[in-house]
Amino acid sequence: PVNESFDVIVIGAGPSGAVAASILVQKGWKVLVIEKEEFPRFSIGESLLPQCMQFIEEANMLDAVQSQAEALGFQYKDGAAFYRNGEHSNFDFSKKFSSGAGTTFQVKRANFDKLLADRTKELGADVRYKHEVTAVDFNDAAAIVSVKNEAGTSQFLAKFILDASGYGRVLPRLLSLELPSTLSDRRAVFCHLEDGICDESYDRDKILITVHPEMDDIWYWLIPFSDGTVSFGVVGDVKYFDESQTNEAVFDHFLAQEPYLAKLLSKAKKTTPVRSLQGYSSDVTQLYGDRFALLGNAGEFLDPVFSSGVTIAMYSASLAANLLDKQLLGEDVSWQEEYADNLKAGVDVFKHFVMSWYDTELQNVIFFQKDDNDVKAMICSILAGYAWDQENPYVNKTERRSAALVDICQESDENQ
Ligand code: FAD
Repeated sequence: PVNESFDVIVIGAGPSGAVAASILVQKGWKVLVIEKEEFPRFSIGESLLPQCMQFIEEANMLDAVQSQAEALGFQYKDGAAFYRNGEHSNFDFSKKFSSGAGTTFQVKRANFDKLLADRTKELGADVRYKHEVTAVDFNDAAAIVSVKNEAGTSQFLAKFILDASGYGRVLPRLLSLELPSTLSDRRAVFCHLEDGICDESYDRDKILITVHPEMDDIWYWLIPFSDGTVSFGVVGDVKYFDESQTNEAVFDHFLAQEPYLAKLLSKAKKTTPVRSLQGYSSDVTQLYGDRFALLGNAGEFLDPVFSSGVTIAMYSASLAANLLDKQLLGEDVSWQEEYADNLKAGVDVFKHFVMSWYDTELQNVIFFQKDDNDVKAMICSILAGYAWDQENPYVNKTERRSAALVDICQESDENQ
């Protein structure tokens, strides 16, 4: 038996689900959000990029985020800092090439996601926690979504499904759309710490990305929050991780190997268990179908190094919600051009950056950019999330531009 009908069912109340549902409900559609967990719940992905503030604002959530920032420990963020074997390189987002916000926050996702989901409910969406989507079916008129909760299984009808289930990858799994990522299999090991950092030169307003002193394809993140805690993690190819060791031992081992970080965090105490994630990079054969679209991580996920995940998730949510609104109003839309191709344009810029980071070419460019100049401003834009700005030559012709830059850096190194 079908319990209720909706215009749109959103699977998952993470950032992409909350933004998409909020945009659609404010356009007058009847929206149901199905979320497997009870919020607050832990999630990874804590460093936001300024570009995502545009979508938080579009979803009518900016006031809520800004007014709760202090109470929820959100840390003001204005740039990205990099460190490698004694060399520092800082990117200040206010000096970026693209227009748009130049600051954002680093957030504990349990608090942040709950705030967005509460706001989604306040704006009028029906949000149901501890409900899990277990099956979907389609007929000529509707999508039929099976949902399990403590009371049993129910079925809901919708004109369209937005899959925002992140690593749950509900529709890719149920509709066999999964495609292995072309990126290597990497692992992340991480936890939260009471940081006790007293080094005055340490800038809490920036994420710090540090390259391992010997293996340049291993890197660490240090993401400060405003309550004296940080998120700290190490990422590398799975071959570097000893399977027989506990997460805790692996974490301590890698932290001890980087002298600058080991000193910075010498007084730190763990406040959460050490967790690990592996094989998170993923792709799909298609991003949309007749009655569905995949948002955020339910579509493609690249790599955490440039903190692009939540920004891509929110960008996809805004694109899909606006397109779906037009479709529900009876207008002709092209999901290929207006959704898949548009989304992919920015994702491909990030992908090029990620691959170039791991083959170390981009690392050399980043550490070469000491002084402010036009090229640094263009790279800074992408680090701030503006990967869809066609005015930026590094977005437009990413591969050609960055190859030329790599040559300049190499020539300069040889001349020194
Ligand atoms: P999610 O945030 O994963 O939300 C999906 C929701 O769907 C969850 O609440 C889940 O419970 C729910 N769900 C799942 N299955 C079902 C089901 N069957 N029925 C109902 N509900 C379901 N991104 C950044 O922007 N900055 C970072 O610093 C960053 N660091 C990262 C570090 C690591 C190690 C990794 C792996 C990722 C990182 N990311 C980062 C990426 C970030 O985690 C994701 O891109 C982001 O959370 C995606 O948001 P989403 O809304 O697509 O999915």
